[in-house]
Amino acid sequence: MPITDVTIVRRCADCSAEIGTMTVKKDNMRLMTSDMNWCEDCGAETREVRDIAEREATVTAEQGSYPGNPPVADVSAAEFRRRRRAGIAT
Ligand SMILES: [Zn+2]
Repeated sequence: MPITDVTIVRRCADCSAEIGTMTVKKDNMRLMTSDMNWCEDCGAETREVRDIAEREATVTAEQGSYPGNPPVADVSAAEFRRRRRAGIAT
């Protein structure tokens, strides 16, 4: 299976503190950014640098638990059907 998602680690350009991670499609990956982010350690807005944190096994294992992955629409639809069924039953 091809790896299409990569995990990007976002770091403060000044002190290298980790700001956070994000998962992006490999095709949309942009490591160059001029975004500014608040760094707790620096106590200031700093430039952001990005690294690839490509741990394929971990990425694959975590994909099922990513909050962004399950489409919200499906959850809502299932919930809607459940409620409608409950409404009909009572
Ligand atoms: Zn910093």
